[in-house]
Amino acid sequence: MQLYNSLTRSKDEFLTHTPGRVEMYTCGPTVYHYAHIGNLRSYIMEDVLEKYLRWTGLNVNRVMNITDVGHLTSDGDTGDDKMLKGAKREHKTVMEIAKFYTDAFFADCRKLNIKKPDVIVPATSYIGEFIKVISALIEKGYAYEAGGNVYFDTSKLEKYYVFNDFSEEDLAVGVREGVEADGNKRSKTDFVLWFTKSKFEDQELKWESPWGLGYPGWHIECSCISMKNNGEYLDLHCGGIDNAFPHHTNEIAQSEAYLGHKWCPQWFHVHHLNTDGGKMSKSKGEFLTVSLLEQKGYDPLAYRFFCLQSHYRKGLMFSWDNLDNSAQAYDKLVARIARLDRLEKGSAENSEECARLRESFKAAMDNDLNTSLAITALYDVLKADIPDGSKLELIKDFDSVLSLGLIEAAEKLKSEKQEEDIPAEVLELLEQRKAARKEKNFALADELRSKITALGYAVEETREGTKLKKL
Ligand code: AMP
Ligand code: ZN
Repeated sequence: MQLYNSLTRSKDEFLTHTPGRVEMYTCGPTVYHYAHIGNLRSYIMEDVLEKYLRWTGLNVNRVMNITDVGHLTSDGDTGDDKMLKGAKREHKTVMEIAKFYTDAFFADCRKLNIKKPDVIVPATSYIGEFIKVISALIEKGYAYEAGGNVYFDTSKLEKYYVFNDFSEEDLAVGVREGVEADGNKRSKTDFVLWFTKSKFEDQELKWESPWGLGYPGWHIECSCISMKNNGEYLDLHCGGIDNAFPHHTNEIAQSEAYLGHKWCPQWFHVHHLNTDGGKMSKSKGEFLTVSLLEQKGYDPLAYRFFCLQSHYRKGLMFSWDNLDNSAQAYDKLVARIARLDRLEKGSAENSEECARLRESFKAAMDNDLNTSLAITALYDVLKADIPDGSKLELIKDFDSVLSLGLIEAAEKLKSEKQEEDIPAEVLELLEQRKAARKEKNFALADELRSKITALGYAVEETREGTKLKKL
């Protein structure tokens, strides 16, 4: 598979340290608010990547952190603590906020068919691990204490800006207007590993450490959680493109300084979901959630379809019109699948054509995860001259990666359609039967059931009530 690598800035053959096994890490959500659908674009595309790697036969170990401490409103070391901000907003404790929004995040993921990672670690459960790694960095001469905090010393690195040749003027934290420079830093690019001199008097979560009572910086979380659960050699690191700097840049700095060797050769970055005003973000106040889409009548999977229709390396423009187009296309696709005849089995004669269709899906995904071409391959299946049973098998196979819930949605549509088509006479008999049962006239109820059966319908008692099924 060819996958674009932000480190080399080229499409590279995807390779792993241990043949057949992928150690994959994903930066998890900061759980101070609901995830917006921009955040979820990143998780949808990472989910497709993970599932595709598995589809090709690789064994994936995917690890994710939950940021419940340390992330400030600036991705550098300035601004308010996001978790504290959330707690104040809702008059709750930080841990209550963390629990609520972690659950909300995974509920959104379920609705979008995003699989749970194999390992999920809240940052607050790994404090001992952070202290161990920070202590080792100080010992190795890569970190220093100043003004009560512990900083990573970026001057010790051969190259700090690994993803781009950024100009320091543009990106160095602490030089932006309105942002207070941290006088403790030896150089502008140094970053905090452990805070003790927090400017927040009311910082809720603090732990004992060799440097005093305090809390970890955001970047050290991901390095430690990955090194502990993925091992010393990470194959694939994922995140939104805004995480490339400073977060991922800092992760690489501290992990490689700690390990004494290269850490992760392959970086997968998903570009942003944008609106008229630019990148969708929580700091702007207004943002869209999965629940809001549902309230407006959209199936969350139509949003997943919208995301898969464009390439992860291009900014995606959100508008209601664009989403409407995708939702309509999704419904049409489901309706076409619902019309396929399950009973029309494939035969050996078609296997060559089926293999060709499968190959074109694979070629699309192998070409830097081209999901929109993969969807075209799925439409080609519908158009192909093969039996419906084979079409359904191929669609099921492709959808094990795309996870658009196509077969399930088609089945649901079919049964709804069947209900609509039930003759008035049968519906009338069903009503009479319901009344008979209410009056405990079971003999009459049985008689009415027989009449319904004679007209070609079975009466089924379900949890949602009595239903009719065509025989
Ligand atoms: P956060 O909860 O802020 O830590 O972000 C979770 C993930 O969403 C990170 O991988 C971010 O890079 C990503 N992200 C943030 N904003 C957007 C956006 N507008 N579009 C796509 N991904 C985003
Ligand atoms: Zn991270």
